[in-house]
Amino acid sequence: MLTCPHCGSQNPDYYTQCPNCGSALSAAQQQAAAPVSYAAPSYQPAEPVTTTGGWFGWYMLMSLLPIIGTIIMLCSTKDPSAKNYAKLMLILQIIAIVLYIIMFICMAASGSLSSMNY
Ligand SMILES: [Zn+2]
Repeated sequence: MLTCPHCGSQNPDYYTQCPNCGSALSAAQQQAAAPVSYAAPSYQPAEPVTTTGGWFGWYMLMSLLPIIGTIIMLCSTKDPSAKNYAKLMLILQIIAIVLYIIMFICMAASGSLSSMNY
């Protein structure tokens, strides 16, 4: 079957002209449009963590990501209770990061970093 590009009526394959509206029919119009193919997102493998500094950097990055999400939530929401929740989460996340930093400084001070270089 050929579908008329002009009026959409179904016509036999051997028709060259639509009997309904008179526009030209061609076999190419029978081809369904190819589905839009989306490029797969390129996966960037993480750099291998070889030093404690790198490990700490990834740890910081991972602990910062929820903060970014919370800030986006804080900026985008109009709901006051959601804003309060986002503020609370932000404060808790900042406290957690401060604790990570203190923990890291303590580990550095006690000299345990050299044993963690794997
Ligand atoms: Zn037609």
